[in-house]
Amino acid sequence: MLANGAKVGLWQPVGGGRHAFDLVARSSEPGELVKALCGVVVSTDELQRIADELAWIQEATCMDCWRVLANRPR
Ligand SMILES: [Zn+2]
Repeated sequence: MLANGAKVGLWQPVGGGRHAFDLVARSSEPGELVKALCGVVVSTDELQRIADELAWIQEATCMDCWRVLANRPR
């Protein structure tokens, strides 16, 4: 059984775009590597930092992540 959040994903601006991650990524240990839905790998340090508002505006949404979420069964 998936929580609602598993469908929505966790969007976060990381280097090179705004990617979506499964919510479980948020509870990963510091320093671990987590994979975005599109396959980009980032460290949890980057995922868990608080992105400033400019990053949200400037980073482009990753369309690969978007497609993965859009194609998930509802
Ligand atoms: Zn992505």
